[in-house]
Amino acid sequence: MADFCNFCSKQMWGDKNDDLVPIPPDINVYEEFNKLEEDTYVSGFICEGCGLVAIANIHGELRVARMKDANQETTQWEKYTDKFNT
Ligand SMILES: [Zn+2]
Repeated sequence: MADFCNFCSKQMWGDKNDDLVPIPPDINVYEEFNKLEEDTYVSGFICEGCGLVAIANIHGELRVARMKDANQETTQWEKYTDKFNT
């Protein structure tokens, strides 16, 4: 099953399903971020939408790394924005 992060799951399915129940993202970036100590990161995800593979707390700020393309290289730590898919 494909996993999607907060922005991508929203883009795929909207905020709520037909019964108006909130749809939780498979990868909850903010929840993961909140579990992190400062200057640590967690990986092991792959968002099928934007390629997100890791979430970091860098000096208290949320940063993410994404798979750039098929060559398996990841991006530098970058801000988590909804502009990934544009
Ligand atoms: Zn995503």
